[in-house]
Order: sequence, then C-alpha cells, then structure tokens
Amino acid sequence: MNEKFPGLYIHIPFCLSKCPYCDFYSLTSVSAVPDFLDALSKEMEMYRNRFNPIDTVYIGGGTPSLLSPQQLEDILISVKKKFDLISTPEITIETNPADLSRSFLELMREIGINRINIGVQSFDEKVLDFLGRRHSIKQAISAVATSRKAGFRNLGLDLIYGVPGQDVESWLNTLKHAVVFSPEHISCYQLTLEAKTPLGIKYRAGEFPIPGEELQYEFFMKTSEFLEDAGYIHYEVSNFARGKEHTSRHNQKYWDHSPYLGLGPSAHSFQCNQRWWNHRSLNQYLAAIKGGNLPVEETETLTMAQLRLEALCLGLRTKKGIFLQDFKNRYHYDLFTEKKKILTKLEEEGFISIQDGYLFPTQTGLAIADSLSLI
Ligand code: SF4
Repeated sequence: MNEKFPGLYIHIPFCLSKCPYCDFYSLTSVSAVPDFLDALSKEMEMYRNRFNPIDTVYIGGGTPSLLSPQQLEDILISVKKKFDLISTPEITIETNPADLSRSFLELMREIGINRINIGVQSFDEKVLDFLGRRHSIKQAISAVATSRKAGFRNLGLDLIYGVPGQDVESWLNTLKHAVVFSPEHISCYQLTLEAKTPLGIKYRAGEFPIPGEELQYEFFMKTSEFLEDAGYIHYEVSNFARGKEHTSRHNQKYWDHSPYLGLGPSAHSFQCNQRWWNHRSLNQYLAAIKGGNLPVEETETLTMAQLRLEALCLGLRTKKGIFLQDFKNRYHYDLFTEKKKILTKLEEEGFISIQDGYLFPTQTGLAIADSLSLI
C-alpha cells in the first residue's frame, strides 16, 4: 500500500448534544444540514484534481451517524465523482453508539463504508455521566454486536482514560470489556480539558482535580501492557491494532506527512509544505462557498526546519519510529550525526532505540513522546 496517496477527511459539524469536555467544532441544531451538504459538495468540486488518487476517506466530526443513510450515500457519491478513489479504499465513519440501528449499519456497509469507529468512551456508567455522553453502556454493547452482525470486519472503539475520580482498576475494567468484542482497533485517549470547555472551566475553578503526572504514567503503561497481552500492537501513543493490517491507514497520513484534504468547517489540510484550515464557524464556511471561494481561514507555509521538527514529533509518537535515511532525504538533516550525543544518552536511559536504520521510542519513551521530540 502506497502510504503517500492523499487521504480525505470530511468534518460533519453536528452533534445532538455537546459533551462538556469536547473542543471540536459542532452545532447542536441540525437545521443547517441540507445547506452544509450542498456546500460540501461544492467544496469538493473546488478541489477536483488537486488530490488524486485518494486511498482513504474518513467521515468524522461532530457526529456523522446523525446523518441519514441517504445523506451519507450522497456524500460518498460526490467523493467518487470528484476524486479518483483507488479500488480498495479505507472508508471510515465515526459514530455514536446511540445512533446505530441494524438497518443504519447495513446501509453503511452497502454504500461502501468498510471501517467503523464507535465512540464508546467507557464501560463505566459513572465515567459516561461525568463525560456527559448521550449513550449508555447497554447501547454501546448493542452497537458493537449489531455492527458485527451488519458485516463490519474492521471495527474500532474509542475510549477515554484519566477521567477525574477514575482509578486504574476501573479503567482496566473498561479495557477488559472492550477486548471481549475483539475490536480490530482501539484508541485510548487521555482526557484533556481545554480551557474554554465546560469541564475545563470547572477544573480551573477547582471543582475537581485531574490525575497527576505519575498516575497518568501508570494509566498509560498499564493500558499498553494490558492491550499488548491481549494481542494488540501499541503502534502509536493512543492507538492499538489487532495486527498490522488493522492500523489506521488514514491516521498514518497525519503521522508521516502524507498529503490530506480536510473538508467542512474547521477541517485542516496538508500538501507539500503547506497547511491550511477552514473557517470554524458554519456560517462563515457557508458564506465563503456561496461566494464561490474556498472556505479557508488561513494558510501557512512551513519551512524545512518546521517540517523537520513536526516529522520528529510525529515520528516519535509511533512505534515504527523514524527511518533515518528517509528523514535525511526528505528534510535534509542527518538526525543521527547532528544529535548523536543526546540520542546516545536517551538510548542509554532506555527511552529510544536505534536499530536497522530506525530511531524509535521504547515503551517508556512512548509514554513521554512529546518531551522526546524536544531533543
Ligand atoms: S459527540 Fe463527539 S464531537 Fe460531539 S460533542 Fe461529543 S465528543 Fe464532541
């Protein structure tokens, strides 16, 4: 598989209710869905031939499973008309467990969606309550079982840890529930509380503490240990796959600087040395497209030094790490020679390893990946 093919991300900016920890852009009124879908199709037209061929489509948000099967099918018909989609694409949809009826899931399979991510977040009712999720554990269990019955053979669960009040035991209990379903993919995100979110405001007002660094480290290491024992590869800081073939082809593009096109409000794109992002507000997005303009809020051109730093940060978040010769060719920088002293020290301390031309984090290194990139 050529990982350098571009990927397509589509942001569906609607949710039935807003989770109090969430910083993604979404609206709780769905009245503008038809206008949005119309604009989305026009935005695709504006990028026709700029990102071909595409090998992954990721429908995220927001809550894409709020759309009707017909609306989702129309989106994919537009994608196929306006882009050159390879014959074996990975097409993923993010979903809320509360939305997944058997008929909806069967129709998703019929329109060509072959990968489903279910936002389960936790199998602990108290945690779900704290996170303000609109689904129950019962719905999560039923969503996974029904997805299997509908024919999804590439199924991912999204989970959150490090929630105030949660201990490692109760988190491991959630993981135990998760592996019972043998999902092909599991993402475990550490809860982060952005300042402007309702939970971020409460935290800053001192209403509850969040786990400190040591406890976060314990969460991370226990997660990795547990899931690796259960047969999963811990291939990126937050991501686990039941075999190499089940790693996310789409997310890999973000980690290795492959091109990607993001459509919809707030979506980001990357190509060559340019990154740009769309207006966050749906109104601004719609107005730009109505006026015949790309809904881009800002574009930045990255210098070679910036690209190199990003590649280092992203590469060190993956188990595969950085292929040093590729890094040298692409970013004109001999990492091994230039940083020999610090790399040797980090290797001696057990944070990284250098083998067969690859520089990669050890398990301990993966836990502090963001600091490693400061070398
Ligand atoms: S459903 Fe997802 S995107 Fe929507 S508010 Fe909750 S976390 Fe955010």
